[in-house]
Amino acid sequence: MTLLDGKKLSQSVKDEVKSEVAKLVQKGIVPTLAVILVGDDVPSHTYVNAKAKACEYCGIKSLVYKLGADTTQSELLALINTLNFDDSVDGILVQLPLPAHINKATIIEAISTHKDVDGFHPFNVGLLNTGFESGLLPCTPLGVIKLLKAYDINVEGLDAVVIGASNIVGRPMATMLLNLGASVSVCHIKTRDLSLYTKRADLIVVAAGCVNLLKADMVKEGVIVVDVGINRLANGKLVGDVDFDSVSKKASFISPVPGGVGAMTIAMLMANTLKATLAHKKSREKSQK
Ligand code: NAD
Repeated sequence: MTLLDGKKLSQSVKDEVKSEVAKLVQKGIVPTLAVILVGDDVPSHTYVNAKAKACEYCGIKSLVYKLGADTTQSELLALINTLNFDDSVDGILVQLPLPAHINKATIIEAISTHKDVDGFHPFNVGLLNTGFESGLLPCTPLGVIKLLKAYDINVEGLDAVVIGASNIVGRPMATMLLNLGASVSVCHIKTRDLSLYTKRADLIVVAAGCVNLLKADMVKEGVIVVDVGINRLANGKLVGDVDFDSVSKKASFISPVPGGVGAMTIAMLMANTLKATLAHKKSREKSQK
């Protein structure tokens, strides 16, 4: 069994971004990411701080807007609009979840598609779904693909199962695997017999947020398992969705939690910010001609 070491790979992704950013800075371009956080959700504050720290490491300027829980939807839209038109800003990210009185879809749709470093805007989702991966892609599934490729895992022709069908992880994950030639089944909370799918799978990506959802008797020998889940137990320990101890005995490759996909997500956000900055630079140069 080989561990899919996201911690190590994420470091090399960040180092690559850092060296590309340094080249841009020499040309007078400082990649800039605006992160908006609304409300007091504790994990969101932790994620935003981690993103700011990664930006600092890579030499990306981060602008963090911490707004009160009573911020209105129009106030948030006004800030997004200002950032959309601010030529010094390359990427915009609104940390989810948002307070209940704010419509998530309206907010995501308001972000300029070129600055949508989370890859959640329907335009970027549409590009992914049509097989054109030229747009900005969601960081977590992008990190999974990067991790699989780093271990020379070719998914073409594999029977893949994605457990979880959210817009953030499951759906784009399934689409990326499909675009790479895997035969993909998407399972979710309404799936009647999960093990019917998982038992025949060559590759399983689990993103459900459910402790011990995938157990050894549900997988075949040699399976490749990627655990996206992040769950905090009562004792404070972080675990994924996979019963790691038992499943790792049958798996050929498996990602740990922590140290797997979680580390990759922020690294891919840095890579997306660089991608958005390069595209922004190109369009600026074009308009100056
Ligand atoms: P979500 O709640 O939006 O979606 C969960 C999905 O899993 C849904 O489609 C649901 O139908 C399915 N599901 C839930 N319980 C299930 C069950 N018992 N059987 C089958 N399907 C089930 O969550 P999300 O935002 O997609 O996140 C999923 C997990 O991944 C969470 O643990 C989250 O913390 C984690 N996550 C990790 C990262 C990372 O960077 N590693 C990033 C995003 C999310």
